[in-house]
Amino acid sequence: MSQDVLQTPIDYLKGVGPNRAALLRSELGIHTFQDLIHLFPNRYIDRTQFYKINTLERNNAEVQIIGQITAIKEVGQKRGKRLVATFRDETGKMELVWFRGQKWIRERLKLHTDYVIFGKTNLFNGVFNMPHPDMELKTEYDKSLSSAIQPIYPSTEQLSNRGISNKALCKLVEHLFLHIGNAFTESLSSEIIEQQALISKKDALLNIHFPKNQNLLARAQFRLKFEELFFIQLQLVYKNLIHKSKIKGFPFENVGSYFNDFYNNHLPFSLTNAQKRVIKEIRSDMGSNAQMNRLLQGDVGSGKTIVAFLSMLIAIDNDFQATLMAPTEILATQHYNGLKPMCDVLGVKISLLTGSSKTAMRKEIHAGLEDGSLHILVGTHAVLEDKVQFKNLGLAIIDEQHRFGVAQRSKLWHKNSSPPHVLVMTATPIPRTLAMSVYGDLDISVIDELPPGRKPIKTVHRFDSNRLKVFGFIRNEIAKGRQIYIVYPLINESQTLDFKDLMDGYESIAREFPLPNYQISIVHGQMKPADKEIEMQRFLKGETQIMVATTVIEVGVNVPNATVMIIESAERFGLSQLHQLRGRVGRGAAQSFCILMTSHKLGNDSKTRMETMVRSSDGFEIAEVDLKLRGPGDIMGTQQSGILRLKIANIVQDKDVLSVARSWAKKVLKEDPKLRLPKHLPINLTYVQMGKYKNIWNYIS
Ligand code: ADP
Ligand code: MG
Repeated sequence: MSQDVLQTPIDYLKGVGPNRAALLRSELGIHTFQDLIHLFPNRYIDRTQFYKINTLERNNAEVQIIGQITAIKEVGQKRGKRLVATFRDETGKMELVWFRGQKWIRERLKLHTDYVIFGKTNLFNGVFNMPHPDMELKTEYDKSLSSAIQPIYPSTEQLSNRGISNKALCKLVEHLFLHIGNAFTESLSSEIIEQQALISKKDALLNIHFPKNQNLLARAQFRLKFEELFFIQLQLVYKNLIHKSKIKGFPFENVGSYFNDFYNNHLPFSLTNAQKRVIKEIRSDMGSNAQMNRLLQGDVGSGKTIVAFLSMLIAIDNDFQATLMAPTEILATQHYNGLKPMCDVLGVKISLLTGSSKTAMRKEIHAGLEDGSLHILVGTHAVLEDKVQFKNLGLAIIDEQHRFGVAQRSKLWHKNSSPPHVLVMTATPIPRTLAMSVYGDLDISVIDELPPGRKPIKTVHRFDSNRLKVFGFIRNEIAKGRQIYIVYPLINESQTLDFKDLMDGYESIAREFPLPNYQISIVHGQMKPADKEIEMQRFLKGETQIMVATTVIEVGVNVPNATVMIIESAERFGLSQLHQLRGRVGRGAAQSFCILMTSHKLGNDSKTRMETMVRSSDGFEIAEVDLKLRGPGDIMGTQQSGILRLKIANIVQDKDVLSVARSWAKKVLKEDPKLRLPKHLPINLTYVQMGKYKNIWNYIS
């Protein structure tokens, strides 16, 4: 069957006129035959089971029975009038009842002929009855495609109001199969089909719509999920390969004196095994001819910064420059302050560039970058400005990637004749399955081990009514010399209201913890960067004991003496944000705490979020729950969500299928990067067609 037939507009299908075509387009996005074939049922009603009348139970379940009508009568008067048929099988009798359309039905019912009936039963006066049964002559039932397990298609109110019932959809799909025959082209190689024991494309499509039995339905689903994920992975792996072969990177062949000097003489602690492994991965990437494009995932506090620093030293050892970008001025400054002493020891030149860098400083930085005397530039988005030109930028590191868009990443590439190696670091753990699908074109490293000696943070959930106790707890901690964060939500839609909450909260805390015994800092988005910085510095130096803030402190800030994180209106934060915030404490030797404050009224999802936070401190586990609660689209943001608009597979539930599909995609492309081998012809053709019609992956640019 040529794909072109499948591109026929839906208007041309038997049973579809202009009105129905318009409805199908607007309600279900079905434009072509192919779209209708890919309208997969949401669920199925199992009609493989047959009941006998003497086994019926009073449970209101839907049942299916084979039997014959032996008598028909009309009973009742006027409004109560109804048609009642006596229905028998070899075990007993029951009644079928119609309250509407009696004349029409009566004319069509056949006596003493086998029917298959389906519906809910009621027990009335000791006799079971089934009102308005679905019924079909046994002979028809046996012929029909949809006899065994009935598909239930997605529907909308418009559709059912305007006469396209589920039954009507079934009929249309049936017409379609009859019309185009069953000559679907196979899209996978026989190698894959055999080794994975898949059913053919044709059988899969047939059985997804008209399953013969449960087993075939399961195999049809597996086959189609596999195929969907396989082609997405193929695309991603292909992109990655093309990237590696086309885009030459700078081979950093030397692990030279800066790296070795630091590693052997100045490491402030011994690296965890995970850190060592990741550094090796990065080193081997940068040492090859291809440009590195790597995502480094590591939970808060897992020690990504030192990995970044060692990577930058490799660049410098090879006479290249490096840059480290962070999403906020506070973070960039903190990185700079942390790295500066280590650079000084080694004789490496490092500078900080942010929106508030003074003109004189900027000039100096620009000059240093251009003549190559400046080795490392730490900064914010300011690094991306056109005026900032490097002599030879070899490595760009982006911290907390989710704040930077793809466009900004690509801007970095154009700072050079050829793109620098790129390392993207994120503390928002992305479940592996999701990372594979979304970032399949990036290589991924994971730091899955925290530095030794960390005490787990104790997390509790408290209601607003317990606030006084919480204040008492804060007082105790401060008496021990510790510092406290109190964080308020700031969500865009209601900024003024949120701001009022923050200020009200601040005032009540200021009343509870008055001067001169207590000093309080406040940081929020409406302050000038310089003022924020001053407040952060006061807190960092221990001059203030309490930091009241909005989520500006969410990422990266490091104050080891802060041991308590109080999150107000915690139900309004997402799981990953809560986890990020909690990561601000637990950075020193003392026991740390996280207190989630909420109102009494909590929805189910909010409850699950609080329970998850209290139970787990594992970022990856939390991310999995988050993925289940919110779905993948929300997590990755609208920008990438398109890639997750899957037709049949589900990233959360079908992890296993995904990894099998991914390894096949890798295997196929490794053996045959251009898909030119005869055995890969079906894959090649499908791949090309998908690109041409963009019906399955219009999301991939
Ligand atoms: P993140 O991954 O959140 O960016 P950081 O790089 O800021 O984490 O590291 C968190 C803290 O842990 C820092 O104070 C850092 O010095 C420390 N640290 C990192 N790696 C180790 C290690 N291997 N052993 C001991 N402490 C470490
Ligand atoms: Mg960090």
